Amino acid sequence: MKNFQCKKCGTLIQSDRAPSVSGCRASSFHQWVDLGDVGDENFQCKKCGTLVLSQKRPSVSGCMASSFHQWQDLGHTGSDVYQCQKCGLTIHGDKRPSVSGCMRASFHQWNKLNR
Ligand SMILES: [Zn+2]
Ligand SMILES: [Zn+2]
Ligand SMILES: [Zn+2]
Repeated sequence: MKNFQCKKCGTLIQSDRAPSVSGCRASSFHQWVDLGDVGDENFQCKKCGTLVLSQKRPSVSGCMASSFHQWQDLGHTGSDVYQCQKCGLTIHGDKRPSVSGCMRASFHQWNKLNR
């Protein structure tokens, strides 16, 4: 499986091949960018906010907010749920995620939502 993201509307889909181009809400057609293989590491772009579960650092092309995605490694996925109090991002982690790369503040401020 690979991560595909439309660079027009930002939709992210896990698929083994490029998804259909119809149904884009920002353009006539989706323009899919192959971000690389799906994995269990959380990466967030600090420009557009996209969160991707990827095997390694995803491709930098196709950012909606900037010329390139700027990926921040937020750590391994896991069974705990964390939400940033500043930007609202929710991610699954095996420990408290990295604080860098928040879009709304200097640092993510993580709260653990499960007990
Ligand atoms: Zn689209
Ligand atoms: Zn981006
Ligand atoms: Zn944040």
